[in-house]
Amino acid sequence: MIAMIKPDTDPAQLHSLTGWLQNLGLKTYLTQEAGHTILGIVGNTDAVDMTMLTGLSMVESVRRVSEPFKLCSRGFQPADTAISVGDGEVKVGGGHFCLIAGPCSVETHEQIIAVAKAVKSAGAQILRGGAFKPRTSPYEFQGLGALGIEMLLEAKRETGLPIITEAMNPAQLPLFEQVDMIQIGARNMQNYDLLKEVGRLKKPILLKRGLCATMKEWLMSAEYIMSGGNEAVILCERGIRTYETYTRNTLDLSAVPMLKQLSHLPIVVDPSHATGQSHLVGPMALAATACGADGLMIEVHNDPPHALCDGAQSLTPEEFYHVAEKIRQVRAVVTMNSAVTK
Ligand code: PEP
Ligand code: MN
Repeated sequence: MIAMIKPDTDPAQLHSLTGWLQNLGLKTYLTQEAGHTILGIVGNTDAVDMTMLTGLSMVESVRRVSEPFKLCSRGFQPADTAISVGDGEVKVGGGHFCLIAGPCSVETHEQIIAVAKAVKSAGAQILRGGAFKPRTSPYEFQGLGALGIEMLLEAKRETGLPIITEAMNPAQLPLFEQVDMIQIGARNMQNYDLLKEVGRLKKPILLKRGLCATMKEWLMSAEYIMSGGNEAVILCERGIRTYETYTRNTLDLSAVPMLKQLSHLPIVVDPSHATGQSHLVGPMALAATACGADGLMIEVHNDPPHALCDGAQSLTPEEFYHVAEKIRQVRAVVTMNSAVTK
C-alpha cells in the first residue's frame, strides 16, 4: 500500500502515523519524491482501515499495490536507484553505467592480476572472478574457494578495482567480508535461505536471473533481499533457457526496458553466459547498452583456450578493449538522446 503524504506535513504527525501502522505489525518506508513524501506500507495491509487512512488531513491519496513485489517496485520509489560499490566511487544505476569484467574463475595469482590490470586499462570499473563455482558436473573445476577470494583481494589492492564474486551458500559468507559486491548466481536465485542471509548484510548484491525464472519471480527474489534490510540490489539478466541450442541461453533483452518500468533497481546484462560464444558477446553487449542497461558484466580471460571454466565465451583482453570502446560509443548516443531508451 502506498500513501502520498501532503507537503508541509508536521514530521511529528507523520511519525505518529508510522508508529500506529508499525503497531499493526506493518513495516513502513518513507521516500521523498519531487517535494512529496511517499509512505510505503508492507505486510498484511488488510488490517488498515482505508477510509480512516484516506480521511487523515496529512494524506493526499492511498492506493494498494497489486504486484506481489513492493520495495523494489516503481510505485514505492519512482526515482531510479543508484548503488555505490566499494569505497563509493563506482556507482551503478540512476544514470551511472558500470562495466564489470574478469575471468569466469580465479585460477592463479598471475592470471587474476594480469586480467585485472588489462580490464582496468580498457575501462572496467569492477573486477569479477569466481572463487566458488556452481558447475553442472561435479568432475569439473569447482573454484579455488577461500584462496580465490584472497587472490581477488590482492588484485583489488594492486589495481584499486572493487571486486565481485559469487557466494553459493550462507556458510561461505564470513569469507566475503572484504568483498565489495556479492553475486547470487542463476542457480541460486531462489535459494531463499541465501537470499535472507545476504538481506542482512550491508553490501551490494548482484542478483542474476534464474535459468527458468519469470521477471516476477526474479523481482520476488530481490524483494527477499530488500525486505531483510539490504536495499542495494542490482539485477543481472544473463539469458534464460529456451528450445534454442545454438546459443548457451537466450538473452532476454526485453527484460531491460520491462524491469525499468516495473522497478527502480539497476539492471546490468551479462552477454557472456547469455550466449556462450565469444563472437556473440560484443554484439549483445552493444544491444544491451542501446536498450538502456545500467551496466554489463563480461568474461575476460588472458588465455581463453586454456581457461578452466567458460573459455569459449571469454574475450581476450584485446577483444575486450575493442568491445569496451564500442560500448562507450553506444552509451554516448543513448545518453545524448535518452528518448532511445523510453
Ligand atoms: C558466473 O557468473 O560465473 C555464473 C556462473 O553465472 P550464472 O549464475 O549466470 O550462470
Ligand atoms: Mn562463467
